[in-house]
Amino acid sequence: INAIAVMTSGGDSPGMNPAIRSVTRAALNQGVRVFGINRGYSGLIIGDIFELKSRNVTNIVQRGGTILKSDRCEAFKDPVVRHQAAEILKEHGIGGLIVIGGDGSLTGAHLLFHETGIPVIGLPGTIDNDIYGTDDTIGFDTALNTALEAIDKIRDTAISHERIFLVEVMGRNSGHIASQVGVACGAEMIIVPEIDFTLETLSFTLANQRAEGRGSSGIIVVAEGPRPGLTYRLARQLEIDGQTAGVCILGHIQRGGQPTGHDRVLASCLGAAAVTYLLAGETDIMVGIKNSKITAIPLLDIMEQKKPLNPELVQLAQLLHK
Ligand code: ADP
Repeated sequence: INAIAVMTSGGDSPGMNPAIRSVTRAALNQGVRVFGINRGYSGLIIGDIFELKSRNVTNIVQRGGTILKSDRCEAFKDPVVRHQAAEILKEHGIGGLIVIGGDGSLTGAHLLFHETGIPVIGLPGTIDNDIYGTDDTIGFDTALNTALEAIDKIRDTAISHERIFLVEVMGRNSGHIASQVGVACGAEMIIVPEIDFTLETLSFTLANQRAEGRGSSGIIVVAEGPRPGLTYRLARQLEIDGQTAGVCILGHIQRGGQPTGHDRVLASCLGAAAVTYLLAGETDIMVGIKNSKITAIPLLDIMEQKKPLNPELVQLAQLLHK
């Protein structure tokens, strides 16, 4: 392989830039040319590709977002379009592609390899930490800390006004962000899609807490989950129970900002490892981290399996606030 390409795809996450930097410099240091693809698969299918030199990745290690831009691209779900994409890569002499993104982006990479033979390596780039086979994803730690900073502030008001606040965090269909944020902020309750929950449970738990004389302020962390509007419905239920609750949807604030030291180190390690695997002839894998060790996970496994939530974390939060 004389040249490789790198792209970021799907939802952006803090740490994508240090990952791009690491991929670029690791490859250049081994005498391999590097191309950047703008806007993920949207840029690939129109040939929005440029050569990355070492200076292009100067001063980006500390920056949130992605200098390569990101996008969602429906057209890439069409196999004909994926064949056209492979031709574009070949025209540029690109012998391998590194895709930084979530499970959707990694699915696209897997299909590209299977249908066209272009070697692909994935890197887990998402704040949600919902990718099977890796303990951690690039951007998760930053999002966790951003959410915590916001919730600590909200708690000040919750205490001053003796109010309950329902704080909604991101995570799509998973509760990985919510469970860790919940433990770290000392939440009174954590609501995640993986654990069955009814509005009655909420009323019951809060009534119990009041009966125990625990005061009437508190933070309930709610994962955005697959049911839009859940957080507002919970607030209405509390209203019915005679308890006013504030609602705060943290939203996209969680996706931005300078990556934490942890995410920068993770992104740097995984980026360089992705190049090593690609140049060693590997393909159709994601490079992740398991028990603090860099590991390769088949992309097929990622597509077929859901990363389980650690239920002990949710129980721990309940134990610790008693
Ligand atoms: P993420 O990568 O963050 O999970 P998405 O699920 O939106 O984000 O996927 C990002 C992009 O990856 C999609 O817009 C599409 O271009 C590509 N992709 C996702 N799923 C598929 C699929 N089943 N087949 C081909 N490409 C896909």
